[in-house]
Amino acid sequence: MLAVLRKLFRVPERHKEATGPRNAVPAGPSWAVDLRLALAWWHLLALAIGLGGVWSRARALRAWRRGSTADDALRRAYTGDAWWGLAALLWLSTGLWRLLGGTEKATSYYVASHAFRLKMALFLVIIAIEVWPMRTLVRWRRRTSVPSPHDALRIEWISYLQCALVGAMVLAATAMARGYGIAPAPRAVPPLPASSAPPGALLPADSVRMAPSGTETVTDEDIALLTREIAMPLDSVDPSGLHSNFDERRGGGTRRHQAIDLMAARRTPIHAAAAGRVLKLFTSAAGGLMVYAADSSERWIMLYAHLDGYAPGLRDGAPLARGQLIGFVGSTGNAQASAPHLHFAIARSADVRHWSRGRAIDPLPVLRAATGTLSRAGAAR
Ligand SMILES: [Zn+2]
Repeated sequence: MLAVLRKLFRVPERHKEATGPRNAVPAGPSWAVDLRLALAWWHLLALAIGLGGVWSRARALRAWRRGSTADDALRRAYTGDAWWGLAALLWLSTGLWRLLGGTEKATSYYVASHAFRLKMALFLVIIAIEVWPMRTLVRWRRRTSVPSPHDALRIEWISYLQCALVGAMVLAATAMARGYGIAPAPRAVPPLPASSAPPGALLPADSVRMAPSGTETVTDEDIALLTREIAMPLDSVDPSGLHSNFDERRGGGTRRHQAIDLMAARRTPIHAAAAGRVLKLFTSAAGGLMVYAADSSERWIMLYAHLDGYAPGLRDGAPLARGQLIGFVGSTGNAQASAPHLHFAIARSADVRHWSRGRAIDPLPVLRAATGTLSRAGAAR
């Protein structure tokens, strides 16, 4: 059922193609942006229409009960009721589209959000308590029953209650938009002491690369070791189909990318590419939520950036098994919201205590040659 609905509402997303020839971050197609904007606009517009409708229904019924020009007041109540119904349809259609169409965020993002569940529960309550007023007003309109002040009073109070519930829904939606109630919640990482974060090591604008310190030398032995250790951190990605974007220019040509961007749907699980330990959970304007990890030889540092969230319980210094869940693909930092991806970098380190320093190597040849497979050991799914 859900699959059918998803197909129906599915919006083709261009970033899926990005795992093809060019692995760069694609700009979102403009029509998809327009659709997102239109859906969000109609969804919000329904709020104004609905609140106005249900409020005027209540006011008109009150006027009718008090005997003000009977027919006119009832007609106003029916009009308010019609707007209220229209708003419900708008909410439902644009809401379903946004939920299942993946126009903005993956379905799993919404389903995993407590704020979203609260919002849906409130919507269901509003619909449930609307059943009786809707049937009553239909009978009045069709003149199959005579309007009674007693019923009018009940509908009036139900309408006011619905206004309050809509207000609570807006609160839940606001909380959701600000990331409250999302599990697993991204952990706030305190800024680093100056000693371990050399200034300039983390440059702005997709420069979550590790800055070469000039002292790290990459030997054939290092590469052989890494090739034995490493595995693709995303299940869905086949390295033979990827093209390197290690040397792509970023920041207006001022620097090289020095990483690979692995395009994947938001909330795709990210697994540790090698056994070792977490060096640092770090947050920056460019890289968003990041994990810096050392391999078991402590010669290599792996960087995972733009995460949507961390695996529950992951913290600095935690030991890592290869394949262990460390987080989820996202677009935090300077990644485009329409193109969630994992920015994955590998660097030879002279000293892993300086977790943001190292000589970056192109991850792709190593991932292609990798002999390891994800064991899922300790995977906290
Ligand atoms: Zn990148």
